[in-house]
Formats: sequence, structure tokens, C-alpha cells
Amino acid sequence: MAPSDTITSRTETLMKYMSLDQKGQIIAEYVWVDAEGNPRSKSRTLPEKKNYTPEDLPIWNFDGSSTGQAPGDNSDVYLKPVAIFPDPFRGSPNIIVLAECWDADGQPNKFNYRHECAKIMEATAEHEPWFGLEQEYTLLSQNDRPYGWPDAGFPAPQGPYYCGVGTGKVVQRDIVEAHYKACLYAGIKISGVNAEVMPAQWEFQVGPCVGIEMGDHLWVARYLLHRISEDFGAKVSVNPKPIPGDWNGAGLHSNFSTKEMREEGGMKHIETAIKKLEGRHKEHIAVYGEGNELRLTGKHETGAIDSFTWGVANRGASIRIPREVGAKGYGYFEDRRPASNSDPYRITAILMETCFGNTTA
Ligand code: ADP
Ligand code: MN
Ligand code: MN
Ligand code: MN
Ligand code: MN
Repeated sequence: MAPSDTITSRTETLMKYMSLDQKGQIIAEYVWVDAEGNPRSKSRTLPEKKNYTPEDLPIWNFDGSSTGQAPGDNSDVYLKPVAIFPDPFRGSPNIIVLAECWDADGQPNKFNYRHECAKIMEATAEHEPWFGLEQEYTLLSQNDRPYGWPDAGFPAPQGPYYCGVGTGKVVQRDIVEAHYKACLYAGIKISGVNAEVMPAQWEFQVGPCVGIEMGDHLWVARYLLHRISEDFGAKVSVNPKPIPGDWNGAGLHSNFSTKEMREEGGMKHIETAIKKLEGRHKEHIAVYGEGNELRLTGKHETGAIDSFTWGVANRGASIRIPREVGAKGYGYFEDRRPASNSDPYRITAILMETCFGNTTA
């Protein structure tokens, strides 16, 4: 039997159990982010109840020494629920619970970037920040090659693959479709998907999201993607330059606006923000992902890592003002620098802190 037949028959068998009555109990899947920026999760049973809020949910814990988040001699890390989503795998009333990591001494865990981000978002809420992140990623087969690539050698050069349609242009569209539907079911503000420039590379967009919601929705969307790819036997890579050479890297373009930028005459506020970003370029690059120097070369629709540039409709710049925004004179801008593996809490926090100062200190 071919491996795909095996997966199909196992899925059919699994379905018999998925519809069993849960007898007044729900399953809550607690999701958190580990030391390396991978989603982790575990499940627990809770009594069924309508409209759980994060405050109703128990604080839980896990073995942080197994995730690189704590030493073995003091390994308990606490999971503090912060957001709830309908579970597309088990179906409602089962839930996904996004949790922050806290140490036993009452401090946020070293890798809990959400805590600081939430404080900054609260302190600057009057500016009503909107974010829209474009998550690029590459699907790999079990041998860590991009899916559908020859084991030795390369596919034909880039060109036909971006927004491609048809055999030989795209692979694994079933994963992309399943993920899109699962995000909608979960209430993720997913705004679109497209095939990317490098074959086996895809993108989904989440936004506009307000404040802390951006990081929450993107992390749950990432969790769903990993979980769905597991069903299809593919791996998800957020490596910003998965294949060296003449192949596009993967980013997390971050579209950003404040209330002032979205109003008539907003361009003035967009330009002020870009000037502030320019002065902090190095600090931003430091939190915009690992291995980004291999991606930000100035080629393949990127700006070079050592220079800060901006322009209307310029995809070779650090910052792009969309053409339509340039024409209208208000709207938003796109920070093209973040790598696909960067943390949305760190990006959105530093953008707000750069524009409005460290108001939480
Ligand atoms: P690109 O042309 O760079 O590929 P996409 O269409 O992939 O752009 O993504 C654009 C993103 O910008 C979307 O996530 C969208 O929600 C977001 N966006 C649109 N308007 C705003 C705005 N005013 N403020 C912040 N983000 C916005
Ligand atoms: Mn155990
Ligand atoms: Mn895009
Ligand atoms: Mn893209
Ligand atoms: Mn973009």
C-alpha cells in the first residue's frame, strides 16, 4: 500500500472516534511558544461551559527543561491563558488556548515576548495600531528538501511559481486550503493566501489586527499550519533563506498604521514614523529574526541589511509605501525587513515603542 493510502484509511478510521459524545467535557489544547520560536501544545479536559474567558481557565504548567525554557533543577514553567479560539481539529465546543509562559518566581519567562508587547500596546492604545503580517513559509518533504524538488538538482528557474496555477507550478495546495479553512473556523483574522516566488513556498496574511491581537492571531495561525502539515506528512520551514542562491527567501512583511496615519493627511505621520524607524535600524534588525542576513541581500525583492531605504511601490526597499497609499496621501506602510521566523510580538512592540517611546518604563 502506498503511504498516501495508509494516511487515507487511518483518517477514515479516526473519524469514527472524532464524533463520539464527550459527555459534558471539552478538550482544551494549550498552545505556547518555546525557546526557539516553535509552537508547543498539550491537551487537558475541562467541564463544558459556554463562553469560556481566559480568566475562567486554569493556569497550567509544563516541563520547561524539555523545551529549552527552564533549567532541569527548577523546571516548572506556568501557562497563563490569554486568548481562546474554537478548535478546528476537534470541533466546537473544544478550544485552543493560547498561553503566556511564566516562571515560578512570578516573572515572565525569558522567551515570553508577549508580556512586554501587551504592556506597550496598552500604553499606546490611543493610537489604535493596526497590523497586517504576511507570513511566508516553505513546505518540506521528510528529507528536508522543498516539497516536489528533485532530490539532487533544482527545479526550473523562478518565474512561473508566484501565484501559480497548475501542475508543475505549485505543490501542496491541499495544505494551504485546509489551513485557510481552519483559520476561518478558529476566528483567526486571515485575510488571504498566495503561492510564492520560490516553488514550495507559500504565504498567508493575517490582519488588520489591533494591538496585541496581531501576535496572538499569527501564533495560532502558525500552530494550525504546523498541525495541519503533520496530517499531510509535510514539514513547515520558516527559515528565511531555505535555499542559497537565486531563490527567494521568506519574510514576514509587517504592514502597520495608526489612527493618525489612516486619516486624511496621514502621510505626514507615515513619514515621521519612517524617520524614527531609520534611526533605530540596527536595533530593529536585531529582533527581526535569525539568519536574516542571508535573506536581506538587496536582491530578490529585499533591501540590503546594512542600509535603510524607503519608497513608494519599491519592493527593493526596507520600507514600502503602497502605491495606492502614496496616491491617496494616507493609509499604512510596509516594513519588509522582518524574516519569516521572527516573533510578531517583538516586531509590533518595537514598532510602537519606536514611534511613541517606551511609555511603560
Ligand atoms: P503585498 O502587496 O505586500 O503582498 P498583502 O496583500 O500580502 O500585501 O498583505 C497586505 C497586508 O496589509 C494584509 O495583511 C492587510 O490586512 C494589511 N493591511 C491593509 N491595510 C492596512 C492598514 N491600514 N494598516 C495595517 N495593515 C493593513
Ligand atoms: Mn508527565
Ligand atoms: Mn503579500
Ligand atoms: Mn510575499
Ligand atoms: Mn508584502
